[in-house]
Formats: sequence, C-alpha cells, structure tokens
Amino acid sequence: MKQYKLLTPGPLTTSASVKEEMLFDRCTWDQDYKDITQKIRKQLLDLANASADDYTVVLMQGSGTFTVESVMTTALNKEDKALIITNGTYGERIVKMADYIGLRYKHYDVAYNAYPDEMELRSILDNDSAITHLVMVHCETTTGILNPVEMISELAKTYQKTLIIDAMSSFGGVEMNVQDLGIDYLISSANKCIQGVPGFGFVIAKQDKLTACEGNASSLSLDLYDQWKEMNKDGKWRYTSPTHVVAAFSKAIDELIAEGGIPARSRRYQRNNQLLREGLERLGFHAYITDERQSPIITTFLFPNSTFEFEDFYQYVKENGFVLYPGKLTEMNTFRIGNIGEVYEEDIEKLCNVIQEYMGVGIK
Ligand SMILES: *Cc1c(COP(=O)(O)O)cnc(C)c1O
Repeated sequence: MKQYKLLTPGPLTTSASVKEEMLFDRCTWDQDYKDITQKIRKQLLDLANASADDYTVVLMQGSGTFTVESVMTTALNKEDKALIITNGTYGERIVKMADYIGLRYKHYDVAYNAYPDEMELRSILDNDSAITHLVMVHCETTTGILNPVEMISELAKTYQKTLIIDAMSSFGGVEMNVQDLGIDYLISSANKCIQGVPGFGFVIAKQDKLTACEGNASSLSLDLYDQWKEMNKDGKWRYTSPTHVVAAFSKAIDELIAEGGIPARSRRYQRNNQLLREGLERLGFHAYITDERQSPIITTFLFPNSTFEFEDFYQYVKENGFVLYPGKLTEMNTFRIGNIGEVYEEDIEKLCNVIQEYMGVGIK
C-alpha cells in the first residue's frame, strides 16, 4: 500500500517508535501494565500544570466522544443545569448528549467563526441562577477556531460555576495551565496532540468535584466516578482496557517530553500552521477563520473557485503523500487541513508544492 501522512486532527501520523510499542501483548491485570497506567496519569497531571493534591486523572475506554459523554453523565445530577456554549459541531454534540442523558441545560450558540460574547454570557448567568456548570469546546475542530478559554475561566470563577472544557484537539498542542484556569474537568484523548493512537480518552478532574459525583451517572460503562474509584487504587481499569494503545500512549508522552514538552510542541504546530496558511493563501485558498482566532491545530479553507472539485483534489493530494479532511460547514464549500502529529516544516512545504502542481499555477 502506498504510504501517506495524515493531515487530519486525529487519528494522526504517529512515530514509528510509538507504533512499535504495540508489538508486545500486555496483560490488563498485571502490575507491569498497571504501572504504565499510573505513570501516564501522573505525567498528564504534570503536563496540565495541575497538582496531585487538587487534581486527579481518569482514563476511559473508547473514542473521545465516549469520554466527553462520561463527564456529562457523571459531573451533573438531575438538579444541575449546564450552560453549553457552542460554535461548531463538537459543541453541538455535547448538547445532543445532554438530551440523551436528560440533563437540564441552556444552549448558547454563536456563528462558527465567532467568539461567544462575554456580556451576553454574563447576562445569562445574572438571570439564571439555576445554572451550575459551564461547558465549552476549546479548539472547535469543526473550523479550527481556538475559543477564549481564559474568558470562560474568569466567568466560571466569578460566578462560581463548575467548568467543563473539551480540549480534545488542543491539549498537548496549546499551552494551558489547567490549575490556574480552574478547569474542573478537562477532556482529551490519546490520538490528538499527545500523538498516540486511538482507543481511549482522559479526564483531568478536580478531585473535590469528582468525589461528589457518586451515583450521578446514568450509564454503567461511562460512569467516570466508578472508573476513577477503581483506577485510583492501583491503576487497574474497570473492564478490558486497550492495552496496546495505552503502551503506545505512554511512549508518545515520553516523546512529547523529549521534544521539549508542550511549549516546544506548540511552537512546532504554530510554525506548521503559519507555513500552511501562508502557502495556501499564495495559491488562492483563503482561510475561514481570522488569524487572531485561528488555532495552531487545523485550518478550514474555502474552495478557491467555483470549478474546484474537492474529491479530485483529495485524490491527487493523497496520491502524492497526504490525506486531507473534508469540510464540515453546511452553508459554505470548505475543506480542512490538520497540521498536528508527526508533521514538520518540510512536510508542509512538500504539501504546498503538491497543491501548487495541482492548481497548475505559479506562485502569485
Ligand atoms: C476529536 C474530537 C472529539 C472526539 O471525537 P471522537 O471521534 O469521538 O474521537 C471531541 N471534541 C473535539 C473538539 C474533537 O476534536
């Protein structure tokens, strides 16, 4: 099979050494394996700048959505009320979960290329004292917009609300001090900026909040409290865990630290993203999100002209070594390019050359 690099926001291209960790079969009950789980939990706390006195980490089987749902079903009881702030489909997915679970919530949504308005949020919070939790996606992977987590964090502190952040596609690739931000539940998964393979997600949770959640969950397998109770004893997961994925993830974290931690990885992603946006702009592709709001993770581009055919473009670029990502906007023709994973400046330069060839144009 022809090899290619994934320019998608997870699963993404991983290193050979991360993949190699999966060549050994580990036992889910064995102490060696439980030690890996405990090591990961500790390293994640460090990456989040969160102290073990106040925070804990829970790993959860499944894709990222399973982990988000485990937080939504566990962190809120039937009397609580969430203010769910959305500007994309991942936020909207959380609203859908709230419906499935039967949670009380208010949905505040803004345009996909806009930020939530602080004054409007203040007014909602001033007028609805039933709200107990604020929920927002950090990097909305739908468009690549990086939402203002500092502003929401300030609101959560001022109004004393529990703060849930879906940082799935940003944690590990964007610097974040979870403790200073006062995030109560930060959610991410193995196959995004930590650069592991898919199979589980994780939650960095404020301990006093999580310990108060016994009995809230309406799902057995997604009960984050129960999972934590078991895992916190000695690193044993409830039910079968994705052993190969966990071993690969442990290696991926070590490689993140060796790269220079999140600050260094964030710089690499930013550089990738800047080169990508500049390169495509020169070829006639405009980004949907403005520079100030753009994340260093994934970029949405508008079709360059009315005759552009994404399927044809996609196949051409794939044959030349890169897999892109279709767009997710309903009202506009777009596609997306991720720049996370084992992706470096030279890859972005090569991609820009491939796209230039496809467009059959000289650099403007
Ligand atoms: C990837 C992602 C998820 C989880 O998606 P899965 O397909 O379930 O892994 C959730 N939220 C955001 C913002 C994401 O980028």
